[in-house]
Amino acid sequence: ESQATAASVQEVIELFARVCAENEGELGRLDAVAGDGDHGQGMVLGSRGAVDAGRAALERGAGARTVLLHAGTAWAESAGGTSGALWGSALTAAGGALSDETKADPDAAVQALLSGVEAVRRLGGAQPGDKTMVDAAAPFAADLQKQSQAGEDLGSALSSAAAIATEAAADTAELKARLGRSRVLGDKSLGTPDPGATSFALLMEALADHLKK
Ligand code: ADP
Ligand code: MG
Ligand code: MG
Repeated sequence: ESQATAASVQEVIELFARVCAENEGELGRLDAVAGDGDHGQGMVLGSRGAVDAGRAALERGAGARTVLLHAGTAWAESAGGTSGALWGSALTAAGGALSDETKADPDAAVQALLSGVEAVRRLGGAQPGDKTMVDAAAPFAADLQKQSQAGEDLGSALSSAAAIATEAAADTAELKARLGRSRVLGDKSLGTPDPGATSFALLMEALADHLKK
């Protein structure tokens, strides 16, 4: 039972790595407008490191919590950069909301996602409007919590929240960057969506699709 949950978690990490690879060029181009152009590369390196570490843990018989802990640590180490540290802490915090022993239920999955977003907010300290991934992650988390409290099943709740994240990520085009590397060139980012918000939305859309199957 617990091994099945850990294997499902590893599947999601591998899904994230595929989505990062597919979007590497586009995420790099978005980051090149007002940043240093490495967001696609960072997401690819981080997610690939997470896949390898998660798989190794799974093969040693680890549960979901431990798989995510190792994957998160590896993501931060492999990616470098701001978003790598943030995604690493998100995975680690998501794992902290799960257990190694029991089979994760839909409520636990929601808790894991909310904990991941909370970790990004805590570590990065960004506020909504700063033009960061928080601009997609905060409305995502709020909607996910609302939908699941209203009794929606995990798949529907996540679809709704992912759609909100996608809209919110697109809306960051209207913001000027105030944090991160882009702050120096904040005005230049006007008209272009934030790369970190964009990748967050892409990954949550993919997760929502994955859970519908
Ligand atoms: P770096 O900025 O170190 O080159 P990346 O290019 O991989 O790292 O990631 C840039 C993204 O990181 C930004 O688009 C933004 O979404 C996110 N980011 C930067 N600073 C913060 C922060 N303090 N909190 C949340 N997200 C942030
Ligand atoms: Mg960058
Ligand atoms: Mg960089």
